[in-house]
Amino acid sequence: MADVYVIGHKSPDTDTVVSAIVYARIKGYTPVTPGPINEETAFVLNKFGVPVPGELGSAEGKKLVLVDHNEASQSPDDIAKAEVIEIIDHHKMNFSNPNPIAILVEPVGSTATILAKKYKDVVAKDKAMAGILLGALLSDTVVFKSPTTTQEDKDVAAVLAKIAGIDDMMKFGIDVKKAKANIADKPIKDVIFADYKNFDFAGKKVGIGQTEVVDLTDVYNRASEVVNFLNDLKAKEGYEMVIFVATDIIKEGSELYFAGDKAKIEKAFNTKVEGNSVYIPGLMSRKKQVVPVVEKVF
Ligand code: MG
Ligand code: MG
Ligand code: MG
Repeated sequence: MADVYVIGHKSPDTDTVVSAIVYARIKGYTPVTPGPINEETAFVLNKFGVPVPGELGSAEGKKLVLVDHNEASQSPDDIAKAEVIEIIDHHKMNFSNPNPIAILVEPVGSTATILAKKYKDVVAKDKAMAGILLGALLSDTVVFKSPTTTQEDKDVAAVLAKIAGIDDMMKFGIDVKKAKANIADKPIKDVIFADYKNFDFAGKKVGIGQTEVVDLTDVYNRASEVVNFLNDLKAKEGYEMVIFVATDIIKEGSELYFAGDKAKIEKAFNTKVEGNSVYIPGLMSRKKQVVPVVEKVF
């Protein structure tokens, strides 16, 4: 069934790319990405000698399995011209389809967790597969610090680490998170779009980017660039609001930059805001701690 493509979301992260690779390998499908992979994902694939999937190109007329997302706004732009035959995900659902299809969604910390559990016998015999699944799991759960982490993620990770021959799982996790190229050297557009998602909140377009770092200094040094970029993006692309969350995974908190209605941010996060950003202690997860509260104020 090489004519079935497994694909993750735009601005591909490690969980999305690894899940596509692993599910395609299990099913004999073809893994693809919607765009270039980031440095963190390259680090994980390279460590276990796994090749980088090709890009999908046009989705028109293709049979797709969606992993690690389900919302059309996060799929390739021409997704409406493709046939979605299956979904495996760990996000809220915003999907409709004219035909019944297989959908597997579980409230766990990564799509990798779902695959590692469901296909544990296959994964047990494949060191590289276990290794990249572990990298994806640790990335998405921010080395178990994200509130999206469940006991199941920790149990599955311990099994994967054993198969993959990773003795110090926590150190491997931090190495994975550190592999993202230095923020200081990148165009600000690449920093914000490296992990960026569009949402539809009550008919309004909202974009939310996130970066995870081990120290916020480089982000603070470029704060005005970030704010200018967000304001520009909002004005040019018809957004009601654009948010950029810079998460310090060691301090376990985030500086949240935004362009849009300040009152909405204050209400969503129940805090006072001066200027165009606010530090929120304990904020680690876009999915659990940003998307639901912002959607609510819309
Ligand atoms: Mg993802
Ligand atoms: Mg994920
Ligand atoms: Mg993520």
